Amino acid sequence: MTAGSRHHKAILPGATIGFLGGGQLGRMTAMAARSMGYDVQLLDPDADCSAKPMASRCITAPWNDAAAAAELARGCDVVTLEIEQIPMVTLEAVAEHAPLHPRATAVFTIQDRARQREWLAAQDFPQGEFRIANTEQECVAAIAALGASIVKSSHGGYDGRGQMRVPRGGDGMAAWQAVGAARSVVEQFLPIREELSVLVARAESGAIAVYPPSRNHHTDGVLTWAVVPGGFPKALEHRATELASAIAERLGIVGLLAVELFHLEGGELFVNELAPRPHNTYHHSERSCVTSQFEQLVRAICGLPLGDTDVISPGAIHNLLGDLWIDGRAPNFVPALAVPGVRLHLYGKREARPGRKMGHLSAVAATHQEALARVCEAYELLSNTPDRQ
Ligand code: ATP
Ligand code: MG
Repeated sequence: MTAGSRHHKAILPGATIGFLGGGQLGRMTAMAARSMGYDVQLLDPDADCSAKPMASRCITAPWNDAAAAAELARGCDVVTLEIEQIPMVTLEAVAEHAPLHPRATAVFTIQDRARQREWLAAQDFPQGEFRIANTEQECVAAIAALGASIVKSSHGGYDGRGQMRVPRGGDGMAAWQAVGAARSVVEQFLPIREELSVLVARAESGAIAVYPPSRNHHTDGVLTWAVVPGGFPKALEHRATELASAIAERLGIVGLLAVELFHLEGGELFVNELAPRPHNTYHHSERSCVTSQFEQLVRAICGLPLGDTDVISPGAIHNLLGDLWIDGRAPNFVPALAVPGVRLHLYGKREARPGRKMGHLSAVAATHQEALARVCEAYELLSNTPDRQ
């Protein structure tokens, strides 16, 4: 799927790519950039961040330090980001000194959950019922109107944090206080049949490359596993692909856009949320697709041709959360690595906290069912798996 042919000058290997954020997404993208011969510099508030070993220069500064971000940009040929919650002043400071992809206005639309929902509504993209609550009273009223709900902080939530589920007739005041945000989105609790995501890469020329939809499974709001191909009916895949591409185009994304979707019991396909960066549900692309999401981001922001997104082997990933590290001790990976097709990916994080994403296992196999079975089997073999203690 391609469109547009306007010529843009490519940023060639040997150039320097700047990253706002040095977490695992930055780390894996930086590895792809390095493989292609680019230099990498980054900014992150954590002096010991995951991507640090991949970068020739790390600036340690908080996200609101626009001067530090400008300093990063001055040393780079192009800058991208692995986290969307970066203040606009910082993004604008970067854009003054180097091309920033995706652009600040697209990130602005996405970075606040309420703003994102309002934008999707204004653009007529399908999504569940929601209300925006600025006060405890508005939260209570929204829950009364919507029934079973999820209260989500408008700002800063991820991996199920900053969220509270409320049953029909539940305590809205308690939910508002538990979320503790100045502004929340109250979403109707949807009857989800299955979860999927679609990753779209878009170049400055307008060219688009879309990955096949991934099937995803979450536990308590956190991704547990993802598999590609997702094994969905062709018609559903087509709708999901069209929807995600239209959103990426409407936002003018240059880089990557992940669109998380819910397929409901009634057949509707609703947008859950957007992410303008590499996405946990496409870590399998590193092994399963001709072009990994990480290399694709590098290609997109550097003006190189977008890579082929076809699946070369069915593949799955299973997340490894900090809960598996007991008293700071990593699980024994040896039996898991004996499962055919399985690889280990660790993010180099020193401190393991419950719920923190420490790494993932990946597996490839002849079918997507088998790839998923392999990665789940390998996960079960980890000796520190909590239910094995
Ligand atoms: P992440 O950063 O991992 O994407 P998040 O903290 O942004 O997560 P969401 O994507 O909003 O959280 O929700 C996480 C999961 O919670 C969803 O994938 C889904 O399983 C469930 N969920 C979220 N919203 C709803 C809803 N309105 N109805 C039913 N389930 C929901
Ligand atoms: Mg999500």
